[in-house]
Amino acid sequence: MSENCNQNCSSCSEECADRKEQKTDFTEKLHELSSVKKVIGVISGKGGVGKSLVTSMLAATMNRKGHHTAILDADVTGPSIPKAFGIKEKAHGSTLGLFPVKTKTGIEIMSLNLLLKNDTDPVVWRGPIIASTVKQFWTDVIWKDIDFMFIDLPPGTGDVPLTVFQSIAVDGIIVVTSPQELVSMIVSKAVRMAEMMNIPIIGLVENMSYFNCPDNGKKYMIFGESHIEEIAEQHQLKVLAKIPIDPAISAAVDQGTIEDYTGDYLEPIAKLLAHTEEKEMIRIAVASENEMVTEHFGHCINFNIFDSENQQILHSESIPNPGHKPGFLPNFLYEMGVNVIISGGMGGGAIDIFNEKDIEVIVGANGNAKKAAEDYLAGFLQSTGSVCHEHQHHDECTS
Ligand code: ADP
Repeated sequence: MSENCNQNCSSCSEECADRKEQKTDFTEKLHELSSVKKVIGVISGKGGVGKSLVTSMLAATMNRKGHHTAILDADVTGPSIPKAFGIKEKAHGSTLGLFPVKTKTGIEIMSLNLLLKNDTDPVVWRGPIIASTVKQFWTDVIWKDIDFMFIDLPPGTGDVPLTVFQSIAVDGIIVVTSPQELVSMIVSKAVRMAEMMNIPIIGLVENMSYFNCPDNGKKYMIFGESHIEEIAEQHQLKVLAKIPIDPAISAAVDQGTIEDYTGDYLEPIAKLLAHTEEKEMIRIAVASENEMVTEHFGHCINFNIFDSENQQILHSESIPNPGHKPGFLPNFLYEMGVNVIISGGMGGGAIDIFNEKDIEVIVGANGNAKKAAEDYLAGFLQSTGSVCHEHQHHDECTS
């Protein structure tokens, strides 16, 4: 490695053995009149599990909360979004570009069905054509002042979803599953795809999870016991919501009134997403053991410090833990101008001091420290809020 190395291979011309391969950026630009703040991709392993339903319900929930919301229907061969919202009109364009169609509550939608003459025309296109159509929904449609865009992706982890992830700047992925599927395999594939694309998985939604019998009030697991919690835990993911089988849902979709459906199963996701608004300059400290988030705040080896602006990490450094004395570390980090502390576990005393100093505490984190900071900035790292009371950690976690 050259002694002048600044770790930035893109601005360096030296032939160096440590050169990190630069990934080619295939991201397409939005239309010049468009502005979209957050893009959430919704995926599933196969068709019919309720991916379009979850996309529609999420958009409706966020829209109800006052966020300007859009749906890009990338499930081109089974575009069911316009039907769920009862949209009969077609999309139109001008010399400037294509305009989405607004639902009755103001959600902006673009779907192939809004461009086809007959909704029932089959789309018998091959992968590359489908992928380039979806790209055009991103580049040629005028998406005005959108806070949250949800993308209903084609089922599976094949060519089309992959191209979509490469060409559209997706901020996070929600995986929809149902208990009758091979959930474990689907989630593993989704996790691998997300890693390849470097996009965080926000979490899992289990649809058709159970059925509440209106006659006897009992809960029936129609598709058998769910294993979603174990699978989520294996991959360190969150189960964000469970949606029951509800005839009112299928009726709302059939009648085109999904916006009127008031089941609040997706409320936790709406809350999570609402937290993801851009934050200005933030200094994040991650209590670490070298590159990894540590379990024990007070006894961490080092703090990885990340300085960010508008959710991008601009600078990072590692500083050794200066020592473990009660009350010392929170003040030390406060003096350093830290706004957020991320750790695996932390004792109540330290949490109280951080709270007093208005420093946000995220506990329950694990894995790579930089990834944790990036997930925090993307709005997808939430604190489990748990205070470490375990006797054997008593000394280690408090500080
Ligand atoms: P996907 O997008 O995964 O192919 P859809 O969202 O189109 O699946 O759902 C398939 C069908 O199942 C739709 O008719 C939808 O109304 C119905 N459906 C989905 N989830 C539920 C549910 N929780 N309760 C009742 N019907 C549902």
